[in-house]
Amino acid sequence: MKYISTRGGVAPQSFEQVVLAGLAADGGLFVPESLPTYSEAEIASWAGLPYNELAFRVMAPFVAGAVPDEELRRIIDASYVAFRHRAVAPLVQTGHNDWVLELFHGPTLAFKDFALQFLGHLLDHLLEKRGQKAVIMGATSGDTGSAAIEGCRRCSNIDIFILHPHNRVSEVQRRQMTTVVGNNIHNIALKGNFDDCQNLVKASFGSQGFLPEDRSLVAVNSINWARIMAQIVYYFWAALSLGGPLRKVSFAVPTGNFGDIFAGYLAHKMGLPVDQLVIGTNANDILHRCLSANDHSRHELIHSLSPSMDIMVSSNFERLLFDLYDRDGAAIATLMDDFRASGKLSLADKALSKARGLFASHRLGDEETVAVIREEYTTSGYLLDPHTAIGVAAGRRCRRDPAIPMIALATAHPAKFPEAVRQAGYPQDPPLPHHMADLFERRERFEVLDNDLAVVQAFMAANLSA
Ligand SMILES: *Cc1c(COP(=O)(O)O)cnc(C)c1O
Repeated sequence: MKYISTRGGVAPQSFEQVVLAGLAADGGLFVPESLPTYSEAEIASWAGLPYNELAFRVMAPFVAGAVPDEELRRIIDASYVAFRHRAVAPLVQTGHNDWVLELFHGPTLAFKDFALQFLGHLLDHLLEKRGQKAVIMGATSGDTGSAAIEGCRRCSNIDIFILHPHNRVSEVQRRQMTTVVGNNIHNIALKGNFDDCQNLVKASFGSQGFLPEDRSLVAVNSINWARIMAQIVYYFWAALSLGGPLRKVSFAVPTGNFGDIFAGYLAHKMGLPVDQLVIGTNANDILHRCLSANDHSRHELIHSLSPSMDIMVSSNFERLLFDLYDRDGAAIATLMDDFRASGKLSLADKALSKARGLFASHRLGDEETVAVIREEYTTSGYLLDPHTAIGVAAGRRCRRDPAIPMIALATAHPAKFPEAVRQAGYPQDPPLPHHMADLFERRERFEVLDNDLAVVQAFMAANLSA
């Protein structure tokens, strides 16, 4: 399978090139040249498969030619063995036709483990095959950093350096990064804020001369195609568990960078009968404004109780725009240039109405989010994390047919966000799951560094282990 850029400016690339490059050279995002599609009968024949086998069926066509079947199976098994639920992604019923898909049984208790466990093992395999070593560098304000670190802990060809703002991430989130043991794992606490971290990462990608000649930087941020691909699987999984494809289902997804819900859109395009894809946003509501009022404009960042969705612009939305504009790369390039210059973008009527056929959206502020958490545990006894609460509420608000199951994606375990749970009046802090109960006793390892590019780069060059 070949991949093309949403801006139409690069020749088709292989899977391997796309995974290692992250962003396309013309500034666009990679998408498959064409998608594998399946009939209802073919999808129905996957019912009852265990998660890993389904993952293999769904992902194999996307990696064809790059990773042999046996190797892909091994990578999938290695990725999901670390999950603490036998079903990997269990479904829980919370009401009549209301379901929650628990995606938080991975090592860092958030759905990002589905993609980053897989990406770590995949990258390690691709590098091994090429006889290369690589360096992952990233900035985090919380979830992504820990999931990326966990994904790399057993990779012998990768060093990972994650910068977090010193004293500005929650203790649970910091400890999930800094207690992971491995001499290829490097945590940097930067004396600065998240933007400072991100600026140093960007500057380093721009000039990689500080690394030895045989190393280069790899990005594992949410635009990496392999992350999206790994997330398609659980949409099939959930639908098959509830009678799909013979029966339609809908999904409600708490959304930040539009990666997770875009995977659901791809599942639908591959043939899975999906009635609605509901976008839930917090106060950082660019997607909700776009869909409801054709106002895709950049606003100031608002810090919310659902911090993993605090974004100004949804980076993966460009992938949907590409389809909404009939895969016209030149049109997307113009649109994105205008957006960069003016900070706003409005969709053509035809594109907007296409989007509204499948997508609906709802926005929840912090107060409403807390109210949803309270309402849910008092009526069903189920404790939601603040991100999931936004998805659940959006699903309820936007659903057009109560006979169709609404599956809300639970993207984090409530123990990761005790502040919101406390505000909801829950009588105790939600306990960490058994395997993490000793998180606060584990030894931490991190280096506090000045907000200075030369200092950070010298530290990285001196500490490569792989
Ligand atoms: C990253 C994250 C999201 C948003 O996912 P996107 O793919 O960026 O839309 C939602 N919830 C949690 C807990 C996350 O960590």
